[in-house]
Amino acid sequence: MLARRRIPDELWGAVVAAVPALARLSPAACDRLRGLALLFLNEKRLEAAGGLDLDDHKRVRIAALACVPILELGLDCYSAFYAVIVYPDEFVVPDREVVDEDGVVHVGDDVLSGEAWEQGPVILAWPDVEVSGRGEGFDVVAHEFAHKLDMLDGAADGVPPLHRGMSETEWVAAFAREYENLRAQLQRDEEPWLDPYAAEDPSEFFAVCCELFFDVPADFRREHPALYAQLARYFRQDPANDRRP
Ligand SMILES: [Zn+2]
Repeated sequence: MLARRRIPDELWGAVVAAVPALARLSPAACDRLRGLALLFLNEKRLEAAGGLDLDDHKRVRIAALACVPILELGLDCYSAFYAVIVYPDEFVVPDREVVDEDGVVHVGDDVLSGEAWEQGPVILAWPDVEVSGRGEGFDVVAHEFAHKLDMLDGAADGVPPLHRGMSETEWVAAFAREYENLRAQLQRDEEPWLDPYAAEDPSEFFAVCCELFFDVPADFRREHPALYAQLARYFRQDPANDRRP
């Protein structure tokens, strides 16, 4: 079991080396992330499900990825939940009710790589964690924890509580414009740069943008400069300009 007081050098080094989104951080930011990840591990309960061997490397990797979005915001942003459940594979939520645009309720099984319950745990599939933060435009951890940030002011709607000096009007306008663009592109059968899943609803759009902001920041800034600017102000980070000296 992981020591409660520090993350051993070798273990931390291995986690950072495995995840380019972490290796990109300056040495000072990386040290702060290490401290925050330790607090996270002490405060949250990481639970293995389905027979997964949730070893220290996996725990530290999840904690580090989860703490990247709150590096400048603090762990209090995650105080509304306690447990993170990790499955050995994608998991099935049986008999899920989904209401479509016409108000029709569909019931079916949902296969998921991650999920964040309102006032409940974050659920992750380890194989998707393993490919998160590697510059492939995918980060299920940033995605699910972004939902948690979004839920800080009630139901997930794509608008987390913004900082003083930020304009909710500007935020909503920027995100709504790009969200509608994406939906229009899909309707025209065009292949969008964003994952089509982002067109599901504004909360998924926000979560997908957060993944890209942290995983492929320079590409995201090039494709969606207005969204990049809003997220940079919200997260108080500028990952497109972070480079180790
Ligand atoms: Zn989502």
